[in-house]
Amino acid sequence: MDKFQCPKCFAPSLTPRDFLGPIGFCPSCHQWVSAYPELLQRIEQLVEGSQRTGVGSHCDVFDCLEAECPDPKNSEYGFDLFHMMLMNRYSQIHARERVDPDVVESFPVWRWSSLHNERPNARHMKLDGKYFPASVRFVDVRGWTIRDMRDCGCGSTPVCIDDWNLLKSEGAKLERLRKR
Ligand SMILES: [Zn+2]
Ligand SMILES: [Zn+2]
Repeated sequence: MDKFQCPKCFAPSLTPRDFLGPIGFCPSCHQWVSAYPELLQRIEQLVEGSQRTGVGSHCDVFDCLEAECPDPKNSEYGFDLFHMMLMNRYSQIHARERVDPDVVESFPVWRWSSLHNERPNARHMKLDGKYFPASVRFVDVRGWTIRDMRDCGCGSTPVCIDDWNLLKSEGAKLERLRKR
């Protein structure tokens, strides 16, 4: 498949698979990209506002797409973009909190939990119940392709030090983050 240049990091890392309609995600720099930067900016602002205030939904994102983009659209794109952008934002906040010196002592580990949704991701399902150190970010285990992000209903649950000591005594092991 032909690769083309990311408008943000300039790496030749993008393929059509990295896009949902007019909005894409660069697997190299982990930024949202678009040939319609103003549309992208509006959508990112909507999601940021929604994260801050709890107001706003995927319908607003779909309205933006519909109003401003001349390309054909899929009615699921608004929902998918909203979900992916919000997930990434929350995950960033969680990842920062987890490595906070006060938190990491009490919660040194987190556990992956998979969700059986209608578009299950086989690799994610295999991670169910696995343990990772707090220094490993959920999003890096999840992966950064549109497919990894879009179909993901997985979550991460912090495990406290007492529980972890008990689990370790029962044979629980930490996973390593594999380079893929
Ligand atoms: Zn990039
Ligand atoms: Zn998942």
